[in-house]
Amino acid sequence: MEQVVPGLWKVSCPGRTLPPYAGTECYWLVSAGEAILVDAGDGQDAANAALEESWEALGKPRVQGIYLTHHHFDHSGGAKWASTVFHAPAWIHPVERSRLVDEIASATEPLTATAVRVGDRHADILVAPGHAAGQINLWVKDAAVLLAGDNVLGATTVVVAPPDGNLRSYQLTLARLRALSPRIIGPGHGPLIVDGVAYLEGYIQHRREREAEILSLLAQGPAAPLEIAQQIYRNRLTPDKMFVGEWMIRGHLAALQEEGAVDGSPDHQRYWLRR
Ligand SMILES: [Zn+2]
Repeated sequence: MEQVVPGLWKVSCPGRTLPPYAGTECYWLVSAGEAILVDAGDGQDAANAALEESWEALGKPRVQGIYLTHHHFDHSGGAKWASTVFHAPAWIHPVERSRLVDEIASATEPLTATAVRVGDRHADILVAPGHAAGQINLWVKDAAVLLAGDNVLGATTVVVAPPDGNLRSYQLTLARLRALSPRIIGPGHGPLIVDGVAYLEGYIQHRREREAEILSLLAQGPAAPLEIAQQIYRNRLTPDKMFVGEWMIRGHLAALQEEGAVDGSPDHQRYWLRR
């Protein structure tokens, strides 16, 4: 367990997730014997043990609620377990709740609150779509800390790809998060980010550059998403991980097609510039 700021703790829960990460980062906000948990890990023994040990180390505060940032299993899989062990409701945005498997969905409640109070601490709940349509982020304003779920990751950029992801709403979300001027960002995977504003600006710039690269490749002729990924990520992804790059490219292509800049074949296997 790592202290983010006083009263806010980060717990690394081992588990299967997208490379290069080896688990999910969950967070405790604790004040005056009360706590909330942000994300619940994947529900496997290793993640559950990490959460339970951290709760004991914090003196077993009364858990008011478990806030799931989005439906992906590496964040929500432990919801049923955590709700039982910590005697607390698990909340998730209704859009994300509809994407959960039944067993987990039935252990959660649809989130409607826009803020949460824990002892004398306060966090705003932001609906921050992009990586997932109903993703929430928590903004701990008094410490300028953003708990970003999978909107920001500690060591890489974020996969934003259909059907769950929407690149344009993600870009709007990044601009909104940047406007908060977060000092520290607690990501859904990877280490804490201590230069929040610069990191978000890097993300925003990265998406613009990536899109320009895709358009310049398509200017040379029609291409498949995987071919584009192989060009763009050849020095960054090994062949067995290239599927992740392909997802990213598909996210950009979907946005460009919606806006009329590119056309694609009905089977989504070939794209070209619209002239
Ligand atoms: Zn995710």
